[in-house]
Amino acid sequence: MTASDVTNRGRKIVIKTADEILLMHEANLIVAETLSMLQNVVEAGITTWELDNLAEKLCLTRKAKPAFKGYRGFPGSLCVSVNEEVVHGIPSRKKKLKKGDIISIDFGVLFKGYYGDSAITLPVGKVAHRVEELLSATQKGLEKGIEQAVVGNRVGDISKAVQGYVEGNGFSVVKQFVGHGIGTELHEAPEIPNFYQGERTVRLLPGMVLAIEPMVNMGTHKVKVLRDGWTVITNDKKPSAHFEHSIAVTEHGPLILSSREK
Ligand code: MG
Ligand code: MG
Repeated sequence: MTASDVTNRGRKIVIKTADEILLMHEANLIVAETLSMLQNVVEAGITTWELDNLAEKLCLTRKAKPAFKGYRGFPGSLCVSVNEEVVHGIPSRKKKLKKGDIISIDFGVLFKGYYGDSAITLPVGKVAHRVEELLSATQKGLEKGIEQAVVGNRVGDISKAVQGYVEGNGFSVVKQFVGHGIGTELHEAPEIPNFYQGERTVRLLPGMVLAIEPMVNMGTHKVKVLRDGWTVITNDKKPSAHFEHSIAVTEHGPLILSSREK
C-alpha cells in the first residue's frame, strides 16, 4: 500500500507533493490576508454584507475565486456567524454588528486549482469576560490540535487535544460539524472531528493537508440549522466561536499554511 492509497470511510486521502503544498500556501496566504484585513475593519455599525464585499474585492484583486460563493448554492463569499450562530451564517445588509457581539468569519479561496480555508472569531469592541475566555479557549484548542498534526500520530490525537483543552476550560465542542482534508477539493478525506472517536483513526502521513476547525460553544454542544437552510445556531442560544487553519503534515512538523503572522 502506498501513501496515496490511504482511505478514510471509503474516500481516498490525497497526499500532496511539495509543489502542491507551495500552491496551497499561496492560496491560504490570500485567505490569511483577507481575514487580517477584515480584523481591521470589524467594528460596531458595519454590516456583514459590507464585510463580504470587502473580502470578495480583495480576493478578486489577488486573482483568486471565493470558494464558498455558489458552493451548494451558498450566496456569500464569507460565512459570517454572530453570537449564537456557530457556522455558515449568510452575509446580510440587515445584520449590523453591535458592541459586545462576537463574529466568526470563515473564508476560503480557490487559487491555481487549490483551496485555502481559514476562520477566526473576533470581538466587536469590549465583550463579556467569559466570552473573551471562549474565544481564547477556541484559538488555543486549535493550537493544541495543530501541535498533534505530526507524522505517526493519528487524526484522533488532534481530536483529543482539541477536546481536552476546550472541555478543560468548561466549554463544549460541536460534534455535528468537523474539519476536513483539503486540496483540489474544498472538502476532502479525512474528516477531522474535534472530539474523541476511538483509537482506530487515520494515521498521519507527510503530505496530508488538513483544515482543523474547532467550533466551541459556551453552553450545550447541541446545534441546529435555521430555516434559511444554512445558519447553524446553538440550541441554547449561548455564544459560539470558531477558529480554523489549513495545515500541512510534514517531516519537519505541522506547517500552518493560513498563518496570519508575518
Ligand atoms: Mg472554513
Ligand atoms: Mg473548513
